Amino acid sequence: MDEKMITLRGKPVMEGIAIGILRFSEAAERSAEDADPCDGSAEARKDRFFRLRDEVAAECDALARQARAEVGAAEAEIFTTHRLMVLDGDLEDAVLAGIEAGLGLAEAIRQAGKGLSAMLAGMEDDYLRARAADAKDVCDRLIATLRGEGQPGDGRLDVPTVLAATDITPAQLLRADRSLLMGFFTADGATGSHTAILARSLSLPSAVAVGALPDRSLEGETVIVDGFTGEIIVAPDTRTLALYCEKQAAFKAERQLEETFRGLADCTADGYQIQVVCNIGRGEEAASVLQNDGGGVGLFRSEFLYLESSDYPTEETQYRVYRRLLEDMGGRPVVIRTMDVGADKQVGYFGIGREENPALGYRSIRICMDRPEILTTQLRALYRASVFGKLSILVPMIISPSELSWVRRLSEEVRDELRAEGIAYDPCVPLGIMIETPAAALISDLLAQDADFFSIGTNDLTQYSLAVDRQNPRIERLYDAHHPAILRMIAAVAENAHRAGKKVSVCGELARDTSLTPFFLAVGVDSLSVSPPYVLRLRRAIRECDRSRVKIEEFLNT
Ligand code: PEP
Ligand code: MG
Repeated sequence: MDEKMITLRGKPVMEGIAIGILRFSEAAERSAEDADPCDGSAEARKDRFFRLRDEVAAECDALARQARAEVGAAEAEIFTTHRLMVLDGDLEDAVLAGIEAGLGLAEAIRQAGKGLSAMLAGMEDDYLRARAADAKDVCDRLIATLRGEGQPGDGRLDVPTVLAATDITPAQLLRADRSLLMGFFTADGATGSHTAILARSLSLPSAVAVGALPDRSLEGETVIVDGFTGEIIVAPDTRTLALYCEKQAAFKAERQLEETFRGLADCTADGYQIQVVCNIGRGEEAASVLQNDGGGVGLFRSEFLYLESSDYPTEETQYRVYRRLLEDMGGRPVVIRTMDVGADKQVGYFGIGREENPALGYRSIRICMDRPEILTTQLRALYRASVFGKLSILVPMIISPSELSWVRRLSEEVRDELRAEGIAYDPCVPLGIMIETPAAALISDLLAQDADFFSIGTNDLTQYSLAVDRQNPRIERLYDAHHPAILRMIAAVAENAHRAGKKVSVCGELARDTSLTPFFLAVGVDSLSVSPPYVLRLRRAIRECDRSRVKIEEFLNT
């Protein structure tokens, strides 16, 4: 083994193998302590801040336009968010307070950014925590512009490169020459950050949260990023490099092969038709569903609307998002799940407070039954939007028939109200439920009498059935969605649904596991809902399966 070779491990962001020359990105690590280019009176510093802010906001606009043209609307949103952060009132207050306290402009911005970033990093909510890096990015840009420098981390690439940095900003990724940027890894960062989202859209093999970066003296060495495992190998020996070159070639060949399944039916070799649809969390992802040839939306996690707002999203806001999604999907089926706030998706303004066991706590339908106005607002928005496409409504975390009948009654009231107001809605919107607790699976025969369809959420079903917290890395090895207990429940739920003439879908992460595709097909699952990039891979597995030859018992007993 080459004695220089070192292996680091981070969290995988985007699958694939990147091989390139290691280059450290110059993040704007420098403090603002060195000469502040804007001295003068406090008034002059404030004036300069406002002009600077406009300049950077305009630049964010330009980046948003570039992202929209080159990558997509969802990615453009990243820079629109940055623009909002630059113009944010709290940031302004903090910078002005720093100036009042006698700080130079650059230092006032740096400290305001540090405060905002620390506040976001301390949030319980994953989405908001991931925004900490955006706050730092925005302030680094303000400081770089103040100094008249290029943007942090800018720099030309001249060879196929793998970037390493404490953190990388979405703007850096977007600006980099993508024919030469093979992949990246960062010491910090989160898999839900905007940088990670952009990396997935750009198909850049990458890993975050690697911990310590390799020694700077290794710049210029070959480096491998294994985007499947999160492993980084610096200065690989000849054998390792050859092995990864092979893996890379195999992955590329797989991708090319998957492309040949574009436009084909989701139909097994022996003619059994199912439907491959997509899980999304934001309306803008409709483009990705279509790009990846998804048959529609199998799960729209509407709670993201709540997570991204600073207050309850209004009926009008929700209506516009749902309507646009239905229109964008052009008549393809769209399943919108009512908000699943709580547990690992905490929203501050809900005022849920600390709970001993949030996953077993105050969540989704449980909150709505105490505060029906939340669900009424959402249902009004959904029914109003329903005339613009093919909508189904899905209710999460149902454990008893009484909860479902409560939702049904509420939805009838909402429709009565709309009718009285002369507002159009589709009277035939199916109302389905998530099967994501052992209780729901065990009484799925009873639930099937009232539910129009089932969607099996294997992520929670696994957590609750195996008593394994899906968030706890210490017991990750026990989080085994292949456990026969889970597969038996899926088989039973499908049977109970079909006996009652209802359809059943699987929308948890397990749906994209192609080693289980034959099982899902054999038990008669009607649709599989996966992240958009997995559509073609799944279609290939479906088309290569002969359903008549699958031995269900082998799955149920091992
Ligand atoms: C699930 O539990 O499988 C599911 C799809 O819902 P979420 O991951 O949003 O809890
Ligand atoms: Mg769930």
